Amino acid sequence: MSASEVSFNRKIISEDLSNVEFDTSEDVEVIPTFDSMGLRDELLRGIYTYGFEKPSAIQQRSILPIVKGRDVIAQAQSGTGKTATFSISILQSLDTTLRETQVLVLSPTRELATQIQKVILALGDFMNVQCHACIGGTNLGEDIRKLDYGQHVVSGTPGRVFDMIKRRVLRTRSIKMLVLDEADEMLNKGFKEQIYDVYRYLPPATQVVLISATLPHEILEMTSKFMTDPIRILVKRDELTLEGIKQFFVAVEREEWKFDTLCDLYDTLTITQAVIFCNTKRKVDWLTQKMQEANFTVSSMHGDMPQKERDNIMKEFRSGQSRVLITTDVWARGIDVQQVSLVINYDLPNNRELYIHRIGRSGRFGRKGVAINFVKSDDIRILRDIEQYYSTQIDEMPMNVADLI
Ligand code: ADP
Repeated sequence: MSASEVSFNRKIISEDLSNVEFDTSEDVEVIPTFDSMGLRDELLRGIYTYGFEKPSAIQQRSILPIVKGRDVIAQAQSGTGKTATFSISILQSLDTTLRETQVLVLSPTRELATQIQKVILALGDFMNVQCHACIGGTNLGEDIRKLDYGQHVVSGTPGRVFDMIKRRVLRTRSIKMLVLDEADEMLNKGFKEQIYDVYRYLPPATQVVLISATLPHEILEMTSKFMTDPIRILVKRDELTLEGIKQFFVAVEREEWKFDTLCDLYDTLTITQAVIFCNTKRKVDWLTQKMQEANFTVSSMHGDMPQKERDNIMKEFRSGQSRVLITTDVWARGIDVQQVSLVINYDLPNNRELYIHRIGRSGRFGRKGVAINFVKSDDIRILRDIEQYYSTQIDEMPMNVADLI
């Protein structure tokens, strides 16, 4: 893919993203331009060709420490350029004359690992960089062939990456940096063991970089076990929600009312693009079928679908061919589709972190976004808890909600 194919209008619509206060563990330098970061020329060219003009707040603070080799814990609001932060840092740190894996990026879903690979390839378009997405659900032989050929960067999901390491196809001896994107999820119960499995195969001096919009206290506490004197660039809880994303709720007395509410909102959903979250795969299937039976055009995606089908759904949604996507939390983190301006929580998420990630699928890089929560009587308590926890405001949905999109 060439950089020009993926770049498009990146005008910031509603927010000044450089106006964020961080809570840092030590004084970090703020570098206001890409030009003054001391990046290699081919990389700078890639950045500008991709359409970036000025670094976002997290980019201004984190790129340099990562490039200098420090362990870094970087937090910033959803859609403010974290992926680009570590992608630029990785590209600057590579020795492209050595075709061996030097950086490993791990993330929780196959779609996210692939998206990261694409961003690295696009920003590194003038650098002759090899970057491979090493993910489950794909052909093993193909994976082996690509890795055998030699890849500077591997962006993958933990299971397949570990498999490739054990087979000695993914050689780890030249790895100098490990990036955990969505780090709090990667260090959560479901993934933690797998991450340690991989970590044990990396050279002892490997630099570790953790990235996420949410980094709960328990996660920060465990970082001392595998990080050395990390620089922490954090956002206070009450500054984590974005001004640009307006949040609302619709009170439904009973579960069955949610469906009619959604149908009533359909015209609003299709103004740009919308993502609807349910808590289970079964419910995604059920809701999709019910919407289709009522003659609404919707697509859906979840983790029980074959990877080929998941890829197709992603392609259609990214291209704008489909505009309404019903999905699970497989879509909650990291996925960047700039045209998404509306998120619906058909079910409230199971924890506070997921709420931030779900609504953050809209309002990318300062764009406007709207999040609508469907709440049953006994859910209101949960919503009020989220509201208080993040010191934010979630009002009853107004009649003119379409005007806000
Ligand atoms: P995050 O990882 O924080 O959720 P991303 O890195 O995915 O955010 O960035 C969100 C969107 O903003 C992407 O479409 C990305 O291309 C764009 N973006 C990132 N950095 C910049 C920048 N400095 N200038 C313009 N657009 C940017």
